[in-house]
Amino acid sequence: MATRSLHEEQATTFSSELKLIPRWSIAAAIFAFAVMQYLFWVVFPQGRHHPPAPFGLRLYFALSWGALASLYMLMVGYVSKDSPRRGMSARVWIVVCLVMPGGIGAVLYFLLRQPIISLCPACGTPVQSEYHFCPQCAYQVSASCGNCYRSVRITDLFCVHCGHDLASDNRPARLHAFR
Ligand SMILES: [Zn+2]
Ligand SMILES: [Zn+2]
Repeated sequence: MATRSLHEEQATTFSSELKLIPRWSIAAAIFAFAVMQYLFWVVFPQGRHHPPAPFGLRLYFALSWGALASLYMLMVGYVSKDSPRRGMSARVWIVVCLVMPGGIGAVLYFLLRQPIISLCPACGTPVQSEYHFCPQCAYQVSASCGNCYRSVRITDLFCVHCGHDLASDNRPARLHAFR
């Protein structure tokens, strides 16, 4: 079953990624939204330098800035959970995300982030998610074609890249990975 969880980690879907977001960052997002509403509806109207903006415009700015601040908090939460499973420092990347203005830190994170690392079920060596075999013990950690060695799905009968009959492999990938 250990190999199975390895596979599930590889097939990262958007909803499974959303589940990474920790509770504290959801709370921080709600708080940030509330702070923005306070600023736009209570603090800013008190400045008498400008005539008050029309209601629609104020609503637009309050909601858009509130949503932006909330998203920012959720993203920092995501980075704090996503970076350790890629062997990257969570602290460094949280600071980068917070310090770089306008979300540049987050863009950098998604450009530079490493593949997800999991442990080889046979010997415990850290294995990157795109590997097919453990570099230390040659345990097959994901299904691959016996002809072109590219990734195949565990339910495939034929390789989608070269048409190879996967069942004819010496050790059929689809069976071996589930062993
Ligand atoms: Zn191994
Ligand atoms: Zn192939």
